[in-house]
Amino acid sequence: MSRVQIYPQFNNSDGLELECFPYGVHHEGEGVCLLVRMGPHRILLDCGLADISPLQTGGNASSDFVPADLVLCSHAHPDHAQGLLALHQAFPLLPIYASDVTTQLLPLNWPEVNQQEIPQFCQALPWRSPVEFQDGLSAELFPSGHLPGAAAILLTYNSPQRSYTLFYTGDFFLSNSRLVEGLHLEELRGLEPDVLIVEGSYGTSRHPHRRIQENQLAERISRAIASSCSVLLPTPTLGLGQEILMLLRSHHNFTGRDLDIWVDGTVAFGCDTYLELLPYFPLAVQNFARHQPLFWDQRVRPRMRRLNPQQSSTIGHPCIVMTDETADLSIYCQPNTGPWVILVPEKPGYSVTIDTSRFAPDASTVVETYFLAQHSDGPGSTQLIHNLRPQHVIFVHGSPTYLADLTSLEELQNRYHLHTPDAGVMVELPIGETFLQPAAPEVNYEGELNELGTVVTVTLPDAITATPRWRQFADTGLVEARWQGEELVLRGLSQRELMNQSSDRLMPAGVECCVTCRFLRGQRCLNQASPLYGFKVTPDGYCPAFERHVEEEGGRGGGGEGEKESS
Ligand SMILES: [Zn+2]
Ligand SMILES: [Zn+2]
Repeated sequence: MSRVQIYPQFNNSDGLELECFPYGVHHEGEGVCLLVRMGPHRILLDCGLADISPLQTGGNASSDFVPADLVLCSHAHPDHAQGLLALHQAFPLLPIYASDVTTQLLPLNWPEVNQQEIPQFCQALPWRSPVEFQDGLSAELFPSGHLPGAAAILLTYNSPQRSYTLFYTGDFFLSNSRLVEGLHLEELRGLEPDVLIVEGSYGTSRHPHRRIQENQLAERISRAIASSCSVLLPTPTLGLGQEILMLLRSHHNFTGRDLDIWVDGTVAFGCDTYLELLPYFPLAVQNFARHQPLFWDQRVRPRMRRLNPQQSSTIGHPCIVMTDETADLSIYCQPNTGPWVILVPEKPGYSVTIDTSRFAPDASTVVETYFLAQHSDGPGSTQLIHNLRPQHVIFVHGSPTYLADLTSLEELQNRYHLHTPDAGVMVELPIGETFLQPAAPEVNYEGELNELGTVVTVTLPDAITATPRWRQFADTGLVEARWQGEELVLRGLSQRELMNQSSDRLMPAGVECCVTCRFLRGQRCLNQASPLYGFKVTPDGYCPAFERHVEEEGGRGGGGEGEKESS
């Protein structure tokens, strides 16, 4: 990890209005801390540094020195927030802001400090409502998925000449998790910020749907318990641990099972704090909590209980134990407790090292990794970028190789100015007045498929229906479906086509031609035995494979047409 020693020399003089000086870019776990200049304003985005001294030793050592005009914190994870308390103590007048939920989660970053003694140094900002701090400078927060309270931040600086915008994603996730909804891409579409600072944790990799990841983890834990192995899950204080607990409490592999889930360490404090924040959680979670406690429940199986220090040698086996990622695992994996499976979260781009010296694994103890995504994958990141359409993109937060994978994507290189700064290196962000916002490339959308009896429902994201093309597609509510190899191609039938078809049907019934053939669907031949198979045919066409259409057996929906969203 390189230590930042240079103090930012901002370049206000030659008309450059935007610059970014990173104190930390979280390449190797050092945390995110970015100083942004917009005109005369200096904004610090996050303070995930474990040691804030680079922020204190600014160029001049005058007593009224402050490293920024204000601080905005994206979310309560330590890699974004752990330096805030020290920063506040060093500069008590420096204003610090975050979302309401984040302000309440922040104290968990300092478990060693008496929680009552941590001052309320962070002020809450509302969602989706720009707040003006200083002349011409405002910020607006948007929920970014990833963790309750996590925000993406839109900064706007209005100069007499024009207004400048910078969008910082913090950590973001487009998919819904159990306890937090994903980032709503629709509300950001076409924002066209001058600068986008985006995290690239997962590089360009593509991940299976979150439900599949959840099922894999649930299966693994279930198999371990079935073979009388206890399961130990070291997790961070906030986020992943509570997600897994919700999964275990609501997944069909576990509901009703006579099983204890023990929670220890700061993860348990995280659960306590989540309980105080229930009104902020998604409605589904609030509904769940109306029927049974979200956490701490000895009545409904599987039971979920807090582990007291004196209990750890007397808990029954097999069981599930969740504890801090930094905990001494030998407390749990004691020789007389039977075999353990230790499940450690994968960190894409980094090798996961399990310090087995921290405990004495007996021969039957197994250490494995699992993956439950907390950030958007490669396609999610590029989707976000193309929807926002910025001039500059600054990638932070991820292994340098992963970030380089993103910046080498042609679809990004062709459209945006890309940066992957190291800590301590100034990024100049010249804004071209004549910059043409590029068109986004065609994207593949992910949807969900549900088969219920004879009805098939395909659910597609809003982005598809938001385009003008959708109106054409959905015009009549009738679609034509056709296999193309392994792919199913859907085509909306237009009003005009239907008119043509019905007038075609007026052809004299006695004539042997395509329009009286039972294989004609939506103007195409569907007879595999015909040389015309798959082709658009004229009503008066003919082939030797002709078979007369019989009214009673060939009703609508039998071959190609079906109701919209079902077949
Ligand atoms: Zn995070
Ligand atoms: Zn992070």
